[in-house]
Amino acid sequence: MVAEKSADSQNEQPNDILISTQSVVKDALNRLGYPEEAYELMKEPVRMITVRIPVRMDDGNIKVFTGYRAQHNDAVGPTKGGVRFHPDVTEKEVRALSIWMTLKSGIVDLPYGGGKGGIVCDPREMSFRELEALSRGYVRALSQVVGPTKDIPAPDVFTNSQIMAWMMDEYSRIDEFNSPGFITGKPIVLGGSHGRESATAKGVTICIEEACKKRGIDIQGARVIVQGFGNAGSFLAKFMHDMGAKVIAISDAEGALHDPEGLDIDYLLDRRDSFGTVTNLFDDTISNEEMLELDTDILVPAAIENQITKDNAHEIKAEIVVEAANGPTTLEATEILTERDILIVPDVLASSGGVTVSYFEWVQNNQGFYWKEEEVQEKLREVLVKSFNNVYTTSQNRQIDMRLAAYMVGVRKMTEAARFRGWI
Ligand code: NAD
Repeated sequence: MVAEKSADSQNEQPNDILISTQSVVKDALNRLGYPEEAYELMKEPVRMITVRIPVRMDDGNIKVFTGYRAQHNDAVGPTKGGVRFHPDVTEKEVRALSIWMTLKSGIVDLPYGGGKGGIVCDPREMSFRELEALSRGYVRALSQVVGPTKDIPAPDVFTNSQIMAWMMDEYSRIDEFNSPGFITGKPIVLGGSHGRESATAKGVTICIEEACKKRGIDIQGARVIVQGFGNAGSFLAKFMHDMGAKVIAISDAEGALHDPEGLDIDYLLDRRDSFGTVTNLFDDTISNEEMLELDTDILVPAAIENQITKDNAHEIKAEIVVEAANGPTTLEATEILTERDILIVPDVLASSGGVTVSYFEWVQNNQGFYWKEEEVQEKLREVLVKSFNNVYTTSQNRQIDMRLAAYMVGVRKMTEAARFRGWI
């Protein structure tokens, strides 16, 4: 008899993010001397929920959407992580991303475990009304297992502050209480935090500054390439440009723009559309693949997964690679870049500015007292500089790459909390 494919094997891809995440987690736990039970607990979410959400579409028909919520581990505190709306969302991806959220929270030392959610849908083809119904339906389906002290969602791919506002309103109605702390990434008038929108890019910028100090690179005049011109990439290009760096190339899903003298970032920001596309307005473009291999000091993948692989890792010319995107470099490529003495600042550290300011938002909601933008920026810098140096020192002391070092720092807090609770 031929065995049916399991849900896992159906989703399996050559650079499977769940398998690669689990393998680094295992290595990190082994090096920290934890027993096998620690890995057994850490390798999957403690709770994985699938929901079916019926939505009446504008044409009068009912469409039933599938959504997921993974709660990786709540030993440290409530779980926390974004909800993505995307046609390619899979259960497996959500599981892996929830582990990353535990790691990120551990690295920047937040009182959270990791969570992640997703709905299989294409928001680009849905009306405002349909998106509102879907967002509210997702919260109704999950209302018993989420909440300000249980599991706190946030924006992710193709979700934004408006969607967070609808979700918060739905939860508040069910809870019969105004509950701004249920979700982060809200509009400022509903309890959102200053600095949340650009927080990921700000965190990446701080990591670039720290990495440049280690490599003796002066940011003034340093050449930077940014792949992706969406939320993370566009803010980052602007921050680097304003700090005096030369952004010599940027890209989006359509192609890349290159000018060795530095691009006019303000002009490009002005022309890009709401999905982060701008290169379609120009004739003189190069491909994303060509762009990644250009001569530069700093390369920032800020778009999608699996962009630096064993096939192009030998051609990367940057001295520093800072991962703003989740999973842009495969483990094989990490090994090649490390052998070539290229410093990789891994995603779980570099892109943790978003969850850090989400935490600040939740704290402000809980205390009902709101901070100025400068206060948020100052606190974010303090957290990121400390976390970067903690990971960097671990990598230097143990003679390992910064990805493995970040995983070691990230898993420790959850594992210690689970040990004290008597779970392992
Ligand atoms: P976004 O949707 O706003 O922008 C994505 C950008 O990538 C767009 O410019 C798009 O054109 C481009 N892109 C898409 N496919 C591409 C391809 N095949 N080749 C090159 N470019 C392509 O997304 P975002 O919020 O900026 O997120 C980008 C990455 O950063 C993702 O991996 C995301 O998970 C990660 N990240 C974002 C945040 C955040 O707060 N925005 C936080 C943590 C991690």
